[in-house]
Amino acid sequence: MNKKTAHELNNLLVNKKISSVELTKAVLDRIDKTEGKVQAYVTVTREDALKQAKAADSRISELPDTRIPLLTGIPIAIKDNMCTKGVLTTCSSKILANYIPPYNATVVEKIKAAGAVIVGKANMDEFAMGSSTENSGLHPTYNPWDLERVPGGSSGGSAAAVAANECILATGSDTGGSIRQPASFCGVVGFKPTYGRVSRYGLIAFASSLDQIGPLTKDVTDTAILMNVLVGYDPKDSTSVNQPVPDYQKALIDNVKNLKIGYIKELLGQGIDQEVKASIEQAMKKLEELGAKLIEVSMPSFEHAVATYYLIAPAEASSNLARYDGVKFGHRSKEAKDLLTMYYNTRREGFGAEVKRRIMLGTYALSAGYYDAYYLKALKVRTLIKQDFDRAFMKYDVLLSPTAPSIAFKFGEKTADPLAMYISDIATIPINLAGLPAISLPCGFSKKAPIGLQIIGRAFDEETVLRAAFTYEQNTDWHKQIPEL
Ligand code: GLN
Repeated sequence: MNKKTAHELNNLLVNKKISSVELTKAVLDRIDKTEGKVQAYVTVTREDALKQAKAADSRISELPDTRIPLLTGIPIAIKDNMCTKGVLTTCSSKILANYIPPYNATVVEKIKAAGAVIVGKANMDEFAMGSSTENSGLHPTYNPWDLERVPGGSSGGSAAAVAANECILATGSDTGGSIRQPASFCGVVGFKPTYGRVSRYGLIAFASSLDQIGPLTKDVTDTAILMNVLVGYDPKDSTSVNQPVPDYQKALIDNVKNLKIGYIKELLGQGIDQEVKASIEQAMKKLEELGAKLIEVSMPSFEHAVATYYLIAPAEASSNLARYDGVKFGHRSKEAKDLLTMYYNTRREGFGAEVKRRIMLGTYALSAGYYDAYYLKALKVRTLIKQDFDRAFMKYDVLLSPTAPSIAFKFGEKTADPLAMYISDIATIPINLAGLPAISLPCGFSKKAPIGLQIIGRAFDEETVLRAAFTYEQNTDWHKQIPEL
């Protein structure tokens, strides 16, 4: 049961072939069996999940079939940077290791209202800073396709849990690629919606002008279903956009005839692994056979995207993370004779090395003498990147690239060199800087590890992205592969 997608399970639930309690037990059993190897979760909410499953079953028996929301009774994992009332929310950081939020993030409220069953909180890089979960302050997560490889990050726990069938679907957050890159590494579908589409209320902030919540699922249909639940205006998030939201399931049309797809030259050249490039070219051929028009497009500003991101994101992070001072919530150092020492020691003990690095980078970039040279300059380059996209979207309906330059790397391969780790986000970062929607979906394997195809859309045009992705998926079977574990 736990190997199926949400839309397949919905059918079985509504027709009373299975119950949500049975399904939730199957998922919890799977967690018992494989979690020793994968370690996707920070917290498993076993008892609460079974209660929610029971409630879902009564809802299914009471409501007429057509009024049962599609996610009713479906087990879902929530990334551990989204607040869950009464349930530990650590952001995989020692500084929040004992934090139990008094409220739910808006997305969690929406997921609960849709009747889904929350089975646990997924591991991540501390404060979502990283690309491998090696920066988790609690423990790493392992890639279900190859336990020697990382699952990607920062939503590595969410992606691994979906790939290992330890949940049916999951939420992630994406600041510079944190939904798409782990989706690519774990062979699942990951979607970052347009900035402003999904409320960030209750999402523990990393870089507020870039953060966006989205789905990680086994196929594109489930992505559309979860999108329908997550999106919408929220007065509690001032950057949430008050625009009508379409029904994303209606965008699932198996047709790309005459769709103009620009493939990004800079992301198919130097620095991209040969096997990845070969798989992407195969995918391009497939889309061409299906009637799309593929044309090369150049994005000259991309050269500066990683540098720009690593000024803007740490600058915002240094400000956002100032609140962890041992006074309001979270860890407080016991070693303190006065207030200042308490601040110092709390932050020294509570934050991991990467988070400290980002706070220092950000503080430096924002300091009076360097603000113009670094932070302000980065904002200007951000505009150039957006202009490259604007130009491209005058000609093309969607853009295409690999999601990551390589397959999942091995543990420890990049930890000694932060730059090597940062560079691995080259294909995803520009999209966040421009606030655009983009999906990653499976398109091949190398050394038995998955490869991801990225499709990028115009702002608020999630539908065309979903249509292109759905068409590719319906005409291939990469998404049906399951790791042996
Ligand atoms: N890997 C990138 C970083 O370390 C992106 C992380 C994210 O999207 N949250 O910042």
